[in-house]
Amino acid sequence: MSLALLVQKFGGTSVGDVGRLQHVARRIVEVKEEGNEIVVVVSAIAGETDRLLQLAHQITETPNARELDVILATGEQVAIGLLSLAIQACGSKARSFTGTQVRILTDNVHTRARILNIDVERVRQALREGEIAIVAGFQGVNVEEEVTTLGRGGSDLTAVALAAALDADICEIYTDVEGVYTADPDLVSTARKLPRVAYEEMIEVASLGARVLQARAVEYAKNYNVSIHVRSSFTRNPGTMVVQEDRDMERVAVSGIAYDKNEAKITITGVVDRPGIAAKLFGRVAESGIVVDMIVQNISQDGHTDISFTVPRSDFHKAKELVEGVAREIGANQILGDDRIAKVSIVGVGIRTHSGVAAKMFAALAAEKVNIMMISTSEIKVSCVIEEQYAELAVRVLHDTFQLGDPPAEER
Ligand code: ASP
Ligand code: MG
Repeated sequence: MSLALLVQKFGGTSVGDVGRLQHVARRIVEVKEEGNEIVVVVSAIAGETDRLLQLAHQITETPNARELDVILATGEQVAIGLLSLAIQACGSKARSFTGTQVRILTDNVHTRARILNIDVERVRQALREGEIAIVAGFQGVNVEEEVTTLGRGGSDLTAVALAAALDADICEIYTDVEGVYTADPDLVSTARKLPRVAYEEMIEVASLGARVLQARAVEYAKNYNVSIHVRSSFTRNPGTMVVQEDRDMERVAVSGIAYDKNEAKITITGVVDRPGIAAKLFGRVAESGIVVDMIVQNISQDGHTDISFTVPRSDFHKAKELVEGVAREIGANQILGDDRIAKVSIVGVGIRTHSGVAAKMFAALAAEKVNIMMISTSEIKVSCVIEEQYAELAVRVLHDTFQLGDPPAEER
């Protein structure tokens, strides 16, 4: 009888070189020998996906998405083979599977495909035979038997989706950090590891640029109620559980402070205030494939208004040119751009039920003379756009203001 069925995912840095691969292999075998059934999901060796992307871009600026997937999927294929060898070298049985072999069936959207269905029969068969199943992350196959990939960071999604399909007891995500912290520990020395975070909080933090878990993977885990344990592959310490929210979590207003320096701001002044203008402007931006994050429109004066919005910094120049192109059509006065901004956010399911949280945030920033350029809120998040040079200061001050460094009255 096995104790548990575990899905364990190892990211690129955890299998960064042969030594690390062997370390990971020994760890997996240890857990197997305790009597557990194990399905491992692995990413490409750190840096490999970027290297492959660069190769493609050396040939053409706009690589065909189908061929890109053929290229990108090789990174994970190498990793599963190597890890399987390393486990076998430890004297345990292991077998590697590509996304096609498992039949991780996806839609046809190359480079960011969605998983439609997983046929776990081959994996189950391997487990029945006492093997450790090693599945390639990030890749799938569509109905036409074409290789697809799931978007950057997609191995997390593979792991969560496999855990759901296998009805696994837990999905462990092994990474190079110890878990999810109240703030970036490199920035805030008093940052604490959170024992538990709610799916919703994790989705906000992931989409805010904290690169611990892919946001889509957390969405999937939430929908299928897969418990995730984010932990380090270099230490034995327990990490952070990402789980369904409960009442205890709401007692604390703010769980963490996130920041993101990957955005840029575009402002259009003197826009004619009449129906259809925003639709035209953002329609054009969307058509070009640029994803807009925050949007702020001012109250109109003399029939004119200002609109500001943020885009990924890598799309800044493209977005600015595009807006300059539509400026005349929407009767705009001036286009201003700023790519030296940062977005600082407080996140917590408790924000829903605590009053005055946003005001407290603004007051803390004001006390440090940090000017707020834009504000956006959701039920469980307040974000402020500020000058980039104040990002670190703002994170530290907010961490103090919400007393996140202190051990909580009741450990969550
Ligand atoms: N290797 C892919 C990437 O770098 C998938 C992953 O690491 O999760 O995005
Ligand atoms: Mg990752």
